[in-house]
Amino acid sequence: MAATRTFSIIKPDATRRNLTGAVTKMLEEAGLRVVASKRIQMTREQAEGFYAVHKERPFFGDLVEFMISGPVVVQVLEGEDAVKRNRDVMGATNPSDAAEGTIRKAYAESIEANSVHGSDSDENAKIEIDYFFKPEEIVG
Ligand code: ADP
Ligand code: MG
Repeated sequence: MAATRTFSIIKPDATRRNLTGAVTKMLEEAGLRVVASKRIQMTREQAEGFYAVHKERPFFGDLVEFMISGPVVVQVLEGEDAVKRNRDVMGATNPSDAAEGTIRKAYAESIEANSVHGSDSDENAKIEIDYFFKPEEIVG
């Protein structure tokens, strides 16, 4: 099966605790390759646009505040069945439901401050990669 790509964010709770390397190590050990990576401070407009699908949800305002509360690391990950592979190693949204061996089980602080984002479909992966990266920033 051919390699595909997905989009990942190491969220502010993880960058604050100096876990960029630890999280990336778990992604790599899961068979994903980092083909683009940059540390950024998201603007409010960027965060609102990125999470627009959730704008009617009660947690939307807090989620945006959290995502701009510190730097994040946005990444493009490549691997076989990358979207599912990444979702599997991330673990459940709520860390209390996350399986052993997952990033959220190991590091998430709460259902909101859950250390990582990962695209949920190939279609959304492409949209999310294009939201943060120019083609020339991705080197596979
Ligand atoms: P996932 O990140 O696992 O794909 P969702 O797409 O459902 O989860 O939600 C996006 C993000 O919104 C979550 O990762 C988390 O940071 C936050 N979130 C989701 N549900 C809640 C909730 N009930 N309360 C607070 N924050 C939430
Ligand atoms: Mg999601």
